Amino acid sequence: MLVDAGLSYRETRRRCAEAGLDLRDVTDVLLTHEHADHCFGAATIARKLGARVHATPGTLRALRDPPPAELCFPLPRDGVLLLGRGLHVRAVPVPHDAIEPVAYVVEERLDAGRCVRAAVVTDLGCAPRALAKALSGLDALVLEMNHDARLLLEGSYPVSLKRRVRSDLGHLSNTQAAQLVAQVLHPGLRHLVLAHLSEQNNTPSHARREAEAVLEVRGSRAAVHVAGQARALHPIVLDPGATAARPRQLALFAT
Ligand SMILES: [Zn+2]
Ligand SMILES: [Zn+2]
Repeated sequence: MLVDAGLSYRETRRRCAEAGLDLRDVTDVLLTHEHADHCFGAATIARKLGARVHATPGTLRALRDPPPAELCFPLPRDGVLLLGRGLHVRAVPVPHDAIEPVAYVVEERLDAGRCVRAAVVTDLGCAPRALAKALSGLDALVLEMNHDARLLLEGSYPVSLKRRVRSDLGHLSNTQAAQLVAQVLHPGLRHLVLAHLSEQNNTPSHARREAEAVLEVRGSRAAVHVAGQARALHPIVLDPGATAARPRQLALFAT
């Protein structure tokens, strides 16, 4: 399954291959919202692969290039979806200037009552309490660290755009994201992926510094990964018992 498809079919396929994955294995695409950097390639991927596209009804309605109707599956804004063998996906509303944007929490039930939980949380202007609650007990968190407040303020964006980015319906600053990490941090968190970094108003080192400061204060040993816009990260394997015959892995892409 793929969360968001902001790149073209060809580029998505190339990046999958770079990470050792085959895009043709994707059966389901989950869209967080209708902004082009999250859904540009969705219709082509759906058409070429016959993949199902899941999104809130508002997001599906707002797609400029909608996938074929028979491949569109509306998901309530706080709905749960069961994919394949025991993959539970939960949509969680987030505040952003889109019609019905959501984050996704994915849980895979393993043997002996164990499970792995990961969440993809990007494009939100602030973090409501219900979101923090939904992000409990995660093994991996992909979280937006969009901008450094000072770099945004002093940067070249027009005033109206700066206001939009900073608003409660815009994007999370490094500091806001770090505060959310502090709220959801627990000893089981193993991977924190910093995502959706602005190339104008942020740098990997600004984002990493704020994230690591929170982890250090709390004595967390979670690994910090910074996603870039130009290439895919290496897949992060969450289940140490995974084998080639029973692969379980989370592959992450910057969109
Ligand atoms: Zn975005
Ligand atoms: Zn957006």
